[in-house]
Amino acid sequence: MTRLGIAWVAVAALLLAAGARADVSRAKASGEPSRLRIGGPLEMAPFAYLDQSGVYTGFSVDLLQSVGQQLGIENVFFYPALPAESLRALAEGEIDCIHSVRYTPELAQKFIFAAFYLESPSLIFVIQERYDLASLQDLLGKRVAVLEDDPAYGVLKRIRQVQLVPVKDIARGFFLLRNGGVDAYVGERLTTMRFLGESNLSGQVKTVGTEVARSRFGVLVRTDEQDLARRLAKGFADVERSGIRERIFNQWFGEKIQPQPPLSRRVLRWVFIFVGGSLLVAMIVLGWNLLLQRELALKAIAIEKAQLDKTIAEEKSRFEAIVQSMTEGLMLVDPQGRIAYLNARGAQYLGRRVEDLLGHPLGVLNEHLLAVAADREVLARKLEYAQQYPSNPLVIEYSAVTTRRQEIRLKLFPVRDRQGEYAGRGLLIEDVTHEREVERLKAEFVSIASHELRTPMTSILGFSELMLTQELPRPLNQRYTEQIHKEAERLTRILNDMLDLSYLESGEGVLEIKQVHFGELINEVVESFQAQLKDRRELKISLAPDTGVLWADRDKLSQVLWNLLSNADKYSPPGKPVGLEVARREQPEPEWNLSRDETALIFPALELRVIDFGQGIPPDHLSLIFTPFHRVETAVHTIRGTGLGLAIVKRIVEAHRGRVWAQSEPGVRTVFTVLLPLRSRAGSQEG
Ligand code: ADP
Repeated sequence: MTRLGIAWVAVAALLLAAGARADVSRAKASGEPSRLRIGGPLEMAPFAYLDQSGVYTGFSVDLLQSVGQQLGIENVFFYPALPAESLRALAEGEIDCIHSVRYTPELAQKFIFAAFYLESPSLIFVIQERYDLASLQDLLGKRVAVLEDDPAYGVLKRIRQVQLVPVKDIARGFFLLRNGGVDAYVGERLTTMRFLGESNLSGQVKTVGTEVARSRFGVLVRTDEQDLARRLAKGFADVERSGIRERIFNQWFGEKIQPQPPLSRRVLRWVFIFVGGSLLVAMIVLGWNLLLQRELALKAIAIEKAQLDKTIAEEKSRFEAIVQSMTEGLMLVDPQGRIAYLNARGAQYLGRRVEDLLGHPLGVLNEHLLAVAADREVLARKLEYAQQYPSNPLVIEYSAVTTRRQEIRLKLFPVRDRQGEYAGRGLLIEDVTHEREVERLKAEFVSIASHELRTPMTSILGFSELMLTQELPRPLNQRYTEQIHKEAERLTRILNDMLDLSYLESGEGVLEIKQVHFGELINEVVESFQAQLKDRRELKISLAPDTGVLWADRDKLSQVLWNLLSNADKYSPPGKPVGLEVARREQPEPEWNLSRDETALIFPALELRVIDFGQGIPPDHLSLIFTPFHRVETAVHTIRGTGLGLAIVKRIVEAHRGRVWAQSEPGVRTVFTVLLPLRSRAGSQEG
């Protein structure tokens, strides 16, 4: 306490002694006291104390001033004194009430607590670094300083193990605490906080555990002052209700002296904030992660789907490419009998556009087929049967007559799904005109061949029979034998040619392809050909120097040359020359009428021309002389032949991917032209 404070107290005490009694009596006379004389502690900051300039101030002082005003009391006087002195003054009527009185049962018996206006806990204060002390439990066996009038004193006293060190004021308690005289100080929160703040000790001390006891502070009046007690209670209630008390409270116990939360609680708060924050961050990260994962999963699905779509599209286009490249028409009919698919070739066979048929019933197609059929009735019966038994495989062949005659084969087959269930019907449409033609030609060949064979056979049989059955004169016998021999020779020729032809018919593989020097080959053939020429016919040979070598079957090529040369010889009168021209060709002559594809396939080529000046070939026979056994009638009786030589030539040339044809001006000149590609089958070119 300051010197000024002490002086003030002295003056106050004098005043108390001199004038107090007169004031009270005056107040009593008028009934309602227009003044209030309030006693209270001298030094109990922040409730009531003398400040630096000696003014009596504090929370309780301000509050009671307000209560006085609320009650309409004109003069409010404060008489700070030591507690005992205040109680005496109250008992003797020198003052009307005492503020900041801590509740005790004893006081409550002797006086009236008109109102309680503050509650505050008593807490355990320890030095910051004492981590071993965290609760009341930890104080067992420890020295603890405590104010004697604090309710905590009674509580701690009952705990035997605590070594109580009673102190008169807070300053003493903290002196002991800081010097190690005690391990803890237990005291009322608000006053202790105030003390710590004022003496700059807040940073060195912390509170631990929960409250040890609780103090209630109120205003004490004499028991005979029931009326005053009621009025004060009302005044306090008004101040409370109007919010004045709260304002004053905040003014005195604001931030500055708020209790420092115990370290553990502060740490705990930070731990909570940290853990909470971490959890929040973790949840955000987790949420984000989940979102990303979902996004990724969706992306993966999208990629997979795109790949699947691509695969399906590829499969579809592959299937489409195959189906569209088929030489057959393909149609699919759904179980309801509607056209579900048709490839371009199918539409072409049917003479309709794909889009005109898709989705239409199969009946539309039947109508179309019947319209062009050569034998409608037969086809109608077959189609009806097909319609009746959709799950039976069936083959229908018929002739269609449009711009030309076509042989068509329809192959109907049931389509089943993976489970084997009927899923519709498939239809393959084929143009078998060529197949049928080949078959016809084969049958014709057999019949002609047997006829051709029968002629010499008949002669042989006839003559030999005559010789066997009759005694013939020698010259006749000789003639018949010669005849038999001649016919047998003819028979052998025909059989040899037929064997050659059938061998060639069996395919390209029969060729023995080698590098052939064409000039040498010509010389060889010409030499042996000239040796068997009966008369001295002139052979005019023109061989270009650049004919070089080509990939070919040497023997077969000499057969071609031999056949053509022998025909030229056979069918031209004696004395007329025969020409043989060989040249290299880069491009075809326009009048050869070769297509672009043929040109690309054949050229560069070797051109071989056999020219004679004989009877020639009538124009209507020019294309027929290459078919087996075909002979121009004029030649049949006079000139020997099998009618197979040119057929063999044609097969050999075509097996070499070449072309052969004849041009003739009967009686003037006949030319057989052969073109042989110089490109080998492996694609290399020989010049
Ligand atoms: P052939 O054994 O009858 O000669 P080919 O197949 O060689 O049989 O010839 C078929 C037919 O073509 C001959 O019968 C003949 O009528 C006619 N022919 C072939 N070459 C000539 C030619 N240089 N001049 C006239 N007619 C020919």
